[in-house]
Amino acid sequence: MTTDSKQMWADMGIDLERHDALMSALEPAYKEIYLSQSNRPEGMAFFDYVVGDIHGIRVRELKEHAKNGGKVVATYCVFVPEEIVMAANAVPVGLCAGTQFSVPLAEAVLPQNTCALIKSSFGFSLGQICPYLKASHLVVGETTCDGKKKMFEILSEHQPVHVMEVPNKKTQLSRELWRGEVNAFKNVIEQLTGNGITADGLAQATRLVNERRRALQRLYETRKSRPVPISGKDALLVTQVSFYDDVQRCTKQVDKLCDELESRISTGEGILPPDAPRILISGCPMAIPNWKLHHILETAGAAVVCEESCTGTRAFSHLIPENGGTVDDQLRAIADRYMQIHCACFTPNEERLDDIVRLAEEYQADGVIHYNLQFCHTYANEAVKVKKHLEETNIPVLPIETDYGDDTGQLKNRIDAFLEMLG
Ligand code: SF4
Ligand code: SF4
Repeated sequence: MTTDSKQMWADMGIDLERHDALMSALEPAYKEIYLSQSNRPEGMAFFDYVVGDIHGIRVRELKEHAKNGGKVVATYCVFVPEEIVMAANAVPVGLCAGTQFSVPLAEAVLPQNTCALIKSSFGFSLGQICPYLKASHLVVGETTCDGKKKMFEILSEHQPVHVMEVPNKKTQLSRELWRGEVNAFKNVIEQLTGNGITADGLAQATRLVNERRRALQRLYETRKSRPVPISGKDALLVTQVSFYDDVQRCTKQVDKLCDELESRISTGEGILPPDAPRILISGCPMAIPNWKLHHILETAGAAVVCEESCTGTRAFSHLIPENGGTVDDQLRAIADRYMQIHCACFTPNEERLDDIVRLAEEYQADGVIHYNLQFCHTYANEAVKVKKHLEETNIPVLPIETDYGDDTGQLKNRIDAFLEMLG
């Protein structure tokens, strides 16, 4: 942390005392969880560097962009089309909300029985702790769950918020509604930036975001190998960083990491023994610095091989066809791509059940952990069907409900028993 950064945060109105306390907690946790791993791929050095200065380097870039007249658009969900933001020369930045640190601040306003993700993100705003939020000209929310949409109403008292209506079904009627929302979002972004979105600009932005998706797909592909060449927590970190890092730089670094991982695979080098139990995690997203479950699993000798989650496969699974065409044609293709995300907010959501089984098979998972954030009713209720579906397919499943608090001991007991059962 440099004096320069401190001055920048102070100028942005960050509560420096609280911010220092957050950073002082993050550093040792990162050391313990990440830097203590042995035989890590060298390519992780970039991601260590980025996290090591998590509120410095990137925030400075965003400030520089704003100084040159550009806009910054903050998002909380993988439904917000980054392509549209980038096509107007604005920078999208996915906000993290994975720490218990900001939860008590939010609980002074929001009901305690709200999911930790919502409380953590709202606490960041209330506590003046997040420089990304401060650097943003617009926050884009969505109606994916009731807690979030109400939180966005309150957040809008503090800063400009636009909420996209994500439908709850995937019928033709719902798809039309969503296409309308995507068109309206284009207008909002054009108005914010003062830049008209052109067919070329949209095609270029689509290509860049697709390239990052391809790089992340390539990373996940390497995790199908036995032994697995990268730890689950490192792979999770890469996905988490991809939400806020520069798209092109991130793509390059992920590809570089993949070169190394593919070379490890060709020599049979792994991060864990080939017979380590392989676990697929499915459920709620894990925002930085939520690494708890991966850490417990991997400390117990298991390999997390895939995340069916918005900080996993749901973030990059579908590409947008790069066929060009008019702005309208492209907006339609963008809208259709996002409707392929199998968030639990949809009903029915059978595609997600099939996806989990498909992923468990492709990644040779010995078992699935369904990860649910406490008070997330959408995922908790969908877990009933997930469990039934997996049991019918003979895939062992352990549903886990937790928050950002320290319940490591309890979780560890359940996980140890599950791993023992897997043999
Ligand atoms: S789980 Fe649903 S609401 Fe949450 S980030 Fe993913 S798509 Fe958005
Ligand atoms: S984890 Fe569940 S309750 Fe929390 S924001 Fe996401 S969908 Fe909403």
